[in-house]
Amino acid sequence: MTILEGLLWTPRGWQSGRLRFESEIQEVQMQFPGTHLSETQLSGTQLRAAEPLGAPFIVPGFIDVHVHGGGGFDAMDGEDGVRGLARFHARHGTTALLATTITNPWERVLGALERVRAVQGAPQPGEASVLGAHLEGPFVNPLKLGAQPPFTLLPTPQRVAEVLAAGVVRVVTLAPELPGAVEAARQFARAGVRVSLGHTIATAEEAVAVTEAVLTEGGEVGGTHLFNAMSGLSGREPGVIGALLSRPATFAELILDGHHVHPTSFLSAHAAKPERMLLVTDAMRAAGMPDGDYDLGGQTATVRAGQARLAGGSLAGSLLTMDQALRGAVKAGLSLHRSVALASAHPARYLGLSDRGGLSAGQRADLVVLNGELKVVQVYVKGRAVL
Ligand SMILES: [Zn+2]
Repeated sequence: MTILEGLLWTPRGWQSGRLRFESEIQEVQMQFPGTHLSETQLSGTQLRAAEPLGAPFIVPGFIDVHVHGGGGFDAMDGEDGVRGLARFHARHGTTALLATTITNPWERVLGALERVRAVQGAPQPGEASVLGAHLEGPFVNPLKLGAQPPFTLLPTPQRVAEVLAAGVVRVVTLAPELPGAVEAARQFARAGVRVSLGHTIATAEEAVAVTEAVLTEGGEVGGTHLFNAMSGLSGREPGVIGALLSRPATFAELILDGHHVHPTSFLSAHAAKPERMLLVTDAMRAAGMPDGDYDLGGQTATVRAGQARLAGGSLAGSLLTMDQALRGAVKAGLSLHRSVALASAHPARYLGLSDRGGLSAGQRADLVVLNGELKVVQVYVKGRAVL
């Protein structure tokens, strides 16, 4: 039995108290039951007000639904790659993740999914839980590749069936304008796979058609790194961004590394979708590594000054970790309480997981302890310390 004391994150605010846990949270003892510290008391510049309480922040473990790599490892490298990135990100507070594939020759993508499934079925101590895979490509628009290599394919029923047969994909990035996208979206939704609009030049109408198809099937819709590699929002052309922000039922990922999204764009999106924004890293293998050249799906990405770029200049994923993304949200002006929701509670809800994303008795003991500077000082995955 382990005990942690501090300021506990609850859906309504912070509460001073104590957690007792083994692999699951056994008991939550509030010091002053019923008295929540309101969000404003701890928001923005008033964050420091929490420090005199002498409390570390105890928050539910971060869930990253879009991560390719880190610590030198990549999800396309096979089992060692997936385990390596899961270990690296666990030390930064990520307790669960979707290993994310990149657009590559079809057999190679299917092979990578098999390896992810092997890791998912045999978790090891020190790793973030691998909940499955995020299939990013090949069902994307060749005109909006971003850093995806040019091996795009159409989402035919046969290919969708092959993906579903792998039994490990929980999120698929799909460009709504591709021929067959609406039918593919239905096929994914019926199988419980979240359909995330991305790498797309779709019109708002095309994005809404896929969104409605998925929602009608009882599925969930997301947006792959909102603002990046998708048609923009303007008065006459709402694009995919307009479609996502105007539909409250949809979720959206954001890369808050200081390079992909301006803080004001982030705050506008958050205002439109306060309960359904997700922080993701979209990290590539160079996260946590020194500057230099790194492989990204067979391409060379050069890492310098906190950015990874392809030879042509495109941002090649990020070097983020979830704790950095969280600090980015706070720096942009969101309260710490809200920012934690974007990193844990919202992705849990997106994936339909009720056993994590909060600090209630009976939930998994996936926990992160942050100090007053929002640095990760302790991490527990299923009650076992990884840091
Ligand atoms: Zn990505």
